[in-house]
Amino acid sequence: MNSSLSTLLSKGEELWKTTPGIGIDLGTTYSCVGVWQHGRVEIIANELGNRTTPSWVAFTQSRRLIGEAAKNQAAMNSANTIFDAKRLIGRKFDEPTVQNDMKLWPFKVIDINDNNPAFVVTYKDEEKQFSPEEISSMILAKMKETAETYLGKQVKDAVVTVPAYFNDAQRQATKDAGVIAGLNVLRIINEPTAAAIAYGLDKKLTEYSDRSTKNILVFDLGGGTFDVSIVSIRKDAFEVKAVSGDTHLGGGDFDTRLVANFVAEFERKHNKKLGDNPRALGRLRAACERAKRNLSSQTDASIEIDCLIDGIDFCSTITRARFENFNIDLFEKCLEPVEDCLKAAKMRKTDVHDIVLVGGSTRIPKIQQLLQDYFDGKELCRSINADEAVAYGAASHAAILAGVGDQKDTVLVDVTPLSLGIGVYNKSLRVVIPRNTTIPAKMFCGIQTAIDNQVTVNFPVYEGERFIAKDNNFLGKFELNNIPPQPKREAKFDVWFEIDADGILTVSATLRGSNNKNQITITEHSGRLTKDEIDRMVAESEMYKTHDEEYKRVVNAKNTLESYIEEIRKMMRRCNDMIDEKDMRLITEVTQQTVGWLDWNHLCDDATIFDQKKDELERVCGGFLRKMHACVENKGNKSNVLELNDVD
Ligand code: ADP
Ligand code: MG
Repeated sequence: MNSSLSTLLSKGEELWKTTPGIGIDLGTTYSCVGVWQHGRVEIIANELGNRTTPSWVAFTQSRRLIGEAAKNQAAMNSANTIFDAKRLIGRKFDEPTVQNDMKLWPFKVIDINDNNPAFVVTYKDEEKQFSPEEISSMILAKMKETAETYLGKQVKDAVVTVPAYFNDAQRQATKDAGVIAGLNVLRIINEPTAAAIAYGLDKKLTEYSDRSTKNILVFDLGGGTFDVSIVSIRKDAFEVKAVSGDTHLGGGDFDTRLVANFVAEFERKHNKKLGDNPRALGRLRAACERAKRNLSSQTDASIEIDCLIDGIDFCSTITRARFENFNIDLFEKCLEPVEDCLKAAKMRKTDVHDIVLVGGSTRIPKIQQLLQDYFDGKELCRSINADEAVAYGAASHAAILAGVGDQKDTVLVDVTPLSLGIGVYNKSLRVVIPRNTTIPAKMFCGIQTAIDNQVTVNFPVYEGERFIAKDNNFLGKFELNNIPPQPKREAKFDVWFEIDADGILTVSATLRGSNNKNQITITEHSGRLTKDEIDRMVAESEMYKTHDEEYKRVVNAKNTLESYIEEIRKMMRRCNDMIDEKDMRLITEVTQQTVGWLDWNHLCDDATIFDQKKDELERVCGGFLRKMHACVENKGNKSNVLELNDVD
């Protein structure tokens, strides 16, 4: 029995005596807030009675507007009306996705400092700059206020959701936005996980036995983004198994197709240009969005706009069939990520127990039908509210964290999208946390110095799947200094990688047997990867597999040779007094020569050359080395002076 869910269901009343935490779905286009009350989650309507609020902020000569008010005046004030802040949060100005998005926005974004983007607006007749965190904080503050008005008391604690593919810079920035909004962010959780929690509560998963696992596919089609995730629900644990999607596909695209249709119709009918009038286009767009929503429950919808342009009223109708026709390619495109996601989770369609619809655009009947057909007619789960599921799950998790039951009851298991590791001396990546490890996670690796008398060691941190460190995404680095000079490999370091529940990574290294320690926390400045980049890197790692394998052979061959030289030297030191001077000179000479050869050839990328060199060395020293080993084992027998001609 899932005790967290059952505690939630039974102890809801008790929670009410304490200050409730809220759950906020901070969406790209719409946000939603919920609170646990009277034994269940309440989704809270805004001042206009709407249960979702546009994630829009506008600045005018006299005021700042947030939500509906901002969106409604957008057409008249597009340069100062900000939306899509979520596409910028935690990102760097020069990222390709930022540069591409910028081309489409009617507002200005600049590089404010150190490659950090900021929105530029005119507010009260002055130019002002706002970071994406600040804009997001205004939306969060609005959601907080909505909850406070409803509850009649102050709200402090909140669980905020982010897409599963958000990297830790984006999570950290979202957390910062919460702090700016005056919230105590209890936890950042993944949107599909939140939807799965909502699903679990709805289905009263407490009825499932301890051992059963349910795999649900969360199909989240929102206003501008599409996310598919497979979440496994086990007893008390929600684990995101795989994610896929399209960062630029959603309801906005369907609106655009409708707008294009009506612009053409208007221009044809009235022989007047509409395309270059932003205000008229804005009003038409709003009417199209409304019509689209209506078409989810009706088979036709009308558009009526007074004085659209030059005193002309515009009236028209659209049928559901035509709307579907305009968009069918986009609808069908939604199935590709479903396929990818199943593949990534190594699951067949039949392994999916339930398909959960999330995001406003999943109300479109055609999309539901295509999805159902894809799953061979399997019924979709329609019982949870698509616009509200994420906030619903966040609110119930906030309740658990705020004290209903034992918060440890529910573990939200997420996975690392890419392997994390340290770049080591031979230029390869030493993976510490493998890809798809569930988080939070704490993992260890031991590392040693690579050259004699090394007093400083560098710890470069990377994420990625490639064998050569620099082929991966560099996250940051730190040094450990003041290492007492010692022969190589003698100074050893304990390296810990720790990812917390919010997905934020801390890497530390300690010189073994000392207090000499340093660490790095990978935060917003570390430039972690976007989902697209992660997908690309994973795909590339497949592509470069043979190349990487070849490189691995080179590194291994070189390592084998180096270790062999080390071994000879070590044994020579130990058996110094047992070796004939002439032999000693010969071995010293050939090992020296080989070391010199290695210095010249360390960049060589042919494994067989290193293999050959090792064979050469072995021919001279192999038998001798075996004798030395035998001699060491047979300790004390000092009369056993070794001679080269003794062996072989
Ligand atoms: P976000 O992408 O910000 O998470 P939502 O999941 O709330 O946002 O989705 C918003 C999108 O859903 C908008 O494009 C909106 O027009 C669309 N939408 C909302 N309700 C409906 C509906 N009944 N039919 C079709 N589309 C809808
Ligand atoms: Mg959403």
